[in-house]
Parts: sequence; C-alpha cells; structure tokens
Amino acid sequence: MPPECLFCKIAAKQLPAKFVFEGERVVAFEDLAPQAPTHVLVIPRAHVASTTLDVDARSHALVGELVEVAAGIARARGFADDGYRLVFNTNAAAGQTVFHLHLHLLGGRSFRWPPG
Ligand code: AMP
Ligand code: ZN
Repeated sequence: MPPECLFCKIAAKQLPAKFVFEGERVVAFEDLAPQAPTHVLVIPRAHVASTTLDVDARSHALVGELVEVAAGIARARGFADDGYRLVFNTNAAAGQTVFHLHLHLLGGRSFRWPPG
C-alpha cells in the first residue's frame, strides 16, 4: 500500500467512510462530495492501479468486478433501468484527485452529454 493513499486507508478502515458494499476484493462507499442523489465510489481493496493507465491483463477481472458491483448498486437503488453514469477520471485534465483506481457510480438524476 502506498503509505499516503487515502483510498487504501478507507479500504483498510483506517479512515471512516459510509460503506455500501464490502466484498472480498472490492468495496464501495459514499462519495464525500456527492454530485448526484447516488454518488458511490467503487474501488479495489488492493492498490492494483493508480489510474486506468495501469490497468493490464492482471487487473482485467478486477475492473470487471468494479463495473458489476456498480451495476448491482444501481439495481438495488432502483435507477438501473432509468440509467446511470460510470466514470473513471484519469489524470489532471479529467480532474482525478485520488490516485487509487476508482469507479464513480452516479445515479438518481438525468445526466447531460457531452459531460463538460
Ligand atoms: P477523482 O476526482 O476521480 O479522483 O475522485 C475522487 C473522489 O473522491 C471525489 O469525488 C471526492 O469527492 C472523493 N473523496 C475524497 N476524499 C474522500 C473521502 N475521505 N471519502 C469519500 N470520498 C472522498
Ligand atoms: Zn491506494
């Protein structure tokens, strides 16, 4: 674990978070600054990647699991059929601020495209 990684610390419960899913390899918790009625971050427990640029064959299954967990939360919260947005911000131009791979699940409202 990189010593100062915020999301490693949240996954290890060294920092508080409102967990909505706790699996063997993946956890999900409420974003501190929600941008939609549901704004959940889905992350690998292990620091396997800082950004999507680090994703390779070793992490394919894990990245698929992030998407599956997000879809499960969308279903459970009742907005799966209406629609929702999944986002991996990557590096500065996309506004990435935490460098532990994480998938944003945004739902419960309509989203514009292009996203701005
Ligand atoms: P990104 O901009 O893609 O790196 O997203 C990082 C996200 O983490 C932002 O949406 C922040 O609001 C969120 N965040 C930062 N610190 C915390 C925290 N301690 N608990 C929950 N979410 C956080
Ligand atoms: Zn980390």
